[in-house]
Amino acid sequence: MENNLKIRFWGVRGSTPCANPENMRYGGNTSCIQISIPGAKKLLIADCGTGFRNLGNELTSNGKYIEGRVFITHPHWDHLQGFPFFKPFYDSRNSFEVYMPPQDGDGCKKILQGHLSNTFFPVSIDMLECELDCITVVEQKMDFGDYSVDYMWANHTVPTAIFKFNIQGKKIVFAPDNELPIDADDDPEFVDRFREFVRGVDILIHDAQFTKAQHQERLGWGHSDWETVFETTKDLNISRLCLTHHDPDHTDENLDKINFELASVKEEFFKEASIVQEGQEIYLLL
Ligand SMILES: [Zn+2]
Ligand SMILES: [Zn+2]
Repeated sequence: MENNLKIRFWGVRGSTPCANPENMRYGGNTSCIQISIPGAKKLLIADCGTGFRNLGNELTSNGKYIEGRVFITHPHWDHLQGFPFFKPFYDSRNSFEVYMPPQDGDGCKKILQGHLSNTFFPVSIDMLECELDCITVVEQKMDFGDYSVDYMWANHTVPTAIFKFNIQGKKIVFAPDNELPIDADDDPEFVDRFREFVRGVDILIHDAQFTKAQHQERLGWGHSDWETVFETTKDLNISRLCLTHHDPDHTDENLDKINFELASVKEEFFKEASIVQEGQEIYLLL
């Protein structure tokens, strides 16, 4: 397994954590993934939903110092709520770079300062003990040597990134919040741009909060339905489709049903297509 990339899903829920017995198998924590790259010095993490807390607990368990880059798609609560609960931020030996798109003229640091203001939480950003570099991302490729990151704007309610990680010839797209129109003719320019961005990638991790029937009642909420994601991406030579950002009202039983339907149609289009679960790990041979 040493020469494999590994993706671990620390949180796959959208909107709000849901610690209910009927949600436990797929998981109740919100958006966070970790991509482990063999030999890389710095950790690669995307999104800081409540799953980020569990990742931090695991990282601190061995007592070693940590360096990492954290890419936040946008600052909605379900992508940021785990941020102040990440234990490695409270160790002065550690250092992190945090990347996030701007909102209403505010950059990454200002947004985090607002999130950690006294009204909402007792710890301010200045009280974090690690070295923290806050970087506002602009729409251009970022090159880090052992990998690069492209991004495009999602169709969401606030400026939101869809990140594409290019790692030693492998491509992983992370799009937890993105509304693909049920009818592509409603926004053909966006659909074309999205399709070109994800064409031929190894793994597409995409928002599938709704079923199509639910989506029809929630147009413009900034989220996709799994049927439309499947139809929009099935002819793009993508190896693996991972559906995430599950609606908090979708029980394990609901998600099993979607997974079953997906398995019955995926055959000729994807090597794998499934609803992801919290704690799941996916390997990609380099
Ligand atoms: Zn979200
Ligand atoms: Zn959002």
